[in-house]
Amino acid sequence: MALLRPLLLQYYITEQCNCRCRVCDIWRKGGTGEAALAVVVQRLQEARRLGVRFVDFTGGEPLLHPQLPEMLRAAQACGLKTTLTTNALLYPQRCKELAGLVHFLHFSLDGAEAEVHNRLRGAQAFDRVLSSLDQARSCGERPDITFTIGPHNLEQLPLLSRIAAELGLILIVNPVFRHQGYRPLSEQELSYIESFAGRPYVYINTAFHRLLRQGGNRIVRPRCRVMDSVLVISPDDQLLAPCYHFVQKTQQITDLAALFHSEWFRALKKQQGAFPLCAGCSLNCYFDPSFHYVLDRFFLDSLVAKLHYIRYKYLSPRAASNKPAAVVFNQIIAEKC
Ligand code: SF4
Ligand code: SF4
Repeated sequence: MALLRPLLLQYYITEQCNCRCRVCDIWRKGGTGEAALAVVVQRLQEARRLGVRFVDFTGGEPLLHPQLPEMLRAAQACGLKTTLTTNALLYPQRCKELAGLVHFLHFSLDGAEAEVHNRLRGAQAFDRVLSSLDQARSCGERPDITFTIGPHNLEQLPLLSRIAAELGLILIVNPVFRHQGYRPLSEQELSYIESFAGRPYVYINTAFHRLLRQGGNRIVRPRCRVMDSVLVISPDDQLLAPCYHFVQKTQQITDLAALFHSEWFRALKKQQGAFPLCAGCSLNCYFDPSFHYVLDRFFLDSLVAKLHYIRYKYLSPRAASNKPAAVVFNQIIAEKC
């Protein structure tokens, strides 16, 4: 199944971050770039006219951008669904100005225990995530918890899955990918993670597991469809190709549609997933949309996972617990002991 247009605009609005995550190289680059509001508004409108449906404001840490609310408002005004993933350090103080502007709000959490999360994040972020969960819910939001799982924090999955169910929030479980520096998840570890896939409020896209089991993307007959499915823009208004993490070419944007239809873009698109550095790639953020551009087993796995997400996000009654997140976390951790 070939969709003609990209579904997602991945907008890097800042290169700065206030966390020091072990798995991330963005903060190490020390970039200071920040997108200009007027340019962002123009690109959002151009993207929407191209058929894009979702915009993910990312970085760095997107909440460091002072004009994020205006950007979200502009995205909604032109009919885009908005996505935001944050480390939550600044969310408690920005909650009110963001209320109602984010369709898919994700808080990153690497463990159910403060010591695990703070160690992996390189910052005292755990308490902020918990207070962000409470504040977001009190502002009428229903955030998701994004859990990047690897051999280093596998044991946190049972706790987090119970906590998510108790809070009535979706736990998105994403496997670490190759260049994050951990050893790959073993077959046994993947099977263990999959045993949680049918649980209420746990979202595990087993298409990622299928990809990891085959050793990631293959450069002969690649499965990556990043340039079919995603447009990637940097803070300094460059279109990045094929993707942010392994950018090969950049082009200054004057008109997004003209660039999208250009020979430059078309030629690069023919090479998506086939560059030498694409061998073994399993970057979640690009494969998630890619899975929906070819009708195969990856597509079907991903579709099943999405239906599970929709069921618990929108169709299931919310969990009864209105307790503060800290109470729920402490209670479930205490039961473990
Ligand atoms: S919060 Fe995100 S951008 Fe910042 S260091 Fe961690 S992974 Fe990287
Ligand atoms: S590095 Fe990964 S996401 Fe980027 S083009 Fe290659 S396979 Fe696709």
